[in-house]
Amino acid sequence: MGDETDSPRFFCDAMLGGLARWLRAAGYDALYEYGIDDGELVRRAAAEGRTILSCDGPLFERNVIRSGQVRSLYVPQQSAKHDQLAFVLRELKLPLRSSRCMACGGELAELPRHAVLGEAPPLAFRHCERFWRCARCGKLLWRGTHWQKITRRLAELALSAGED
Ligand SMILES: [Zn+2]
Repeated sequence: MGDETDSPRFFCDAMLGGLARWLRAAGYDALYEYGIDDGELVRRAAAEGRTILSCDGPLFERNVIRSGQVRSLYVPQQSAKHDQLAFVLRELKLPLRSSRCMACGGELAELPRHAVLGEAPPLAFRHCERFWRCARCGKLLWRGTHWQKITRRLAELALSAGED
């Protein structure tokens, strides 16, 4: 597994917000902006060196995309979000990494449990052993049932990716 510097960063088109969240859970820096148009998407991706993920056919007709100046990957929109994630990881031969904040894509730093007493909801504090804070948006995270479902799904994806 490489370090952060060789990890691709993504910009998802306006239709792929769900995929952006799954990419973050899989450990990738993925941006998504509601309602962003193709021109702005391409401009931002070029400026920030991000790979565009899009299900919009006409976008791939643009010169900067066709020439490979801006990296991109066409993602089938009709598939489920975790299948889109599996598709991207498989196409680009990417491993699962340490999860990032699903809300913003920031890196997570683990906190000692006692440090979140009073901040974590009492139920979460009682039932969860490990807590993290997002370095970008400051959100406190823990492994509740929602997160367990996601990590189980990610583990399944990693297994099925190893089969081919
Ligand atoms: Zn965050």
